[in-house]
Amino acid sequence: MKDPNKKYIAILGSTGSIGTQALEVIRANTGRFVVEVLTAENNASLLIEQAVEFRPNVVVIGNELLYPQVKSALEPLYIKVYCGAKALASVVEMEDIDIVLTALVGYAGLIPTINAIKAGKHIALANKETLVVAGDIVTSLARKHNVAILPVDSEHSAIFQCLPGETMNPIEKIILTASGGPFRGKSRAELEHVTKQQALKHPNWSMGSKITIDSASLMNKGLEVIEAKWLFGLKAEQIEVIVHPQSIIHSMVQFEDGSIKAQMGLPDMKLPIQYAFGFPERLKASYPRFDFAKYPSLTFEEPDMKTFHNLALAYEALRKGGNMPCILNAANEIAVEKFLNDQIAFLEMPEMIAECMAKVPYIAIPSLEDYIETDTITRKKAQAFSQPKIK
Ligand code: NAD
Ligand code: MG
Repeated sequence: MKDPNKKYIAILGSTGSIGTQALEVIRANTGRFVVEVLTAENNASLLIEQAVEFRPNVVVIGNELLYPQVKSALEPLYIKVYCGAKALASVVEMEDIDIVLTALVGYAGLIPTINAIKAGKHIALANKETLVVAGDIVTSLARKHNVAILPVDSEHSAIFQCLPGETMNPIEKIILTASGGPFRGKSRAELEHVTKQQALKHPNWSMGSKITIDSASLMNKGLEVIEAKWLFGLKAEQIEVIVHPQSIIHSMVQFEDGSIKAQMGLPDMKLPIQYAFGFPERLKASYPRFDFAKYPSLTFEEPDMKTFHNLALAYEALRKGGNMPCILNAANEIAVEKFLNDQIAFLEMPEMIAECMAKVPYIAIPSLEDYIETDTITRKKAQAFSQPKIK
């Protein structure tokens, strides 16, 4: 029997950075939240450990080779175990689920998110790529099925937290803050030979490898600009980016009288995760508090879009609309994979993305099938990008 005082949560990608932090939030609030579903791609041992602790109804392991291991560990505990992408896409429809946290990486989040929305589940959205790929379809489905898309990304959570009480007041613009990543202030010449080890060292946040590389290349901020367009119904001109290396102001909203609201706090993803789960309530938490005296200077600077060309490419994709952000995203996923496999240099990532944006056929008003096709074509094109120009 479902407890009406608790929210039942499905975590897609429970073994990752966001997934494990979401479980910490739930562990601290067991009176409020129940884990209904856990899923992971490859980390079977952590998935089993989590399931033994949180006793979900269902577990999905993406990699089918690991199914026997997970099944034999969890079936004696009466936990149902499934495997593969199809199971992941349908498990979100289970009756008892209230909220689906999309904490998996990349395009793989799209279909499970769409299915969850169609089944009337609220979405705690960490997987920004879903909105980048098909923001129009996803947000209009959410309106149709009357479900909330609750942002988990810290910048978007910040804006979301600035909006209550302002329904009558249009947003003039939003200002997304960016830490600048490990290469802030570097020139193109200095970036030519940076290694993946250097790129994986983020100054303020500990995250999965894909988003960490995206943060170093400023693609993460580019994806967030597009994510913000769909979450808050804005035009490209209304979305600004400012580099704020301390990552204390998580983002800001400027209203039509010129007044600016900012949301602040120490950089800790548990806060936006908990806000999304608890919304509209703020739950008591004992995370370390921010102390102004310890941060006498909060600084701001313009992003360098010439050196970090990915951010300019994301604005271009946003302005062109249609399937262009989907092309940007797919090309970037392959670029990051190749960079992490030492197949291309750091500065070749934007080159590869620009080439895909120029060559993959543009569709002004894509259907879901068009987005799926665009993703496939772009990945092929990006895989064929094989002439290293920078050595
Ligand atoms: P991660 O790599 O640490 O974890 C990813 C999780 O998804 C793992 O559980 C993995 O098993 C699963 N997964 C990976 N590929 C999958 C696939 N193809 N199918 C199904 N499951 C798959 O990633 P993360 O840093 O937790 O990021 C997750 C999402 O949240 C990303 O979209 C990222 O942009 C976003 N996000 C992360 C942070 C952060 O602090 N980590 C902040 C804001 C937004
Ligand atoms: Mg973010």
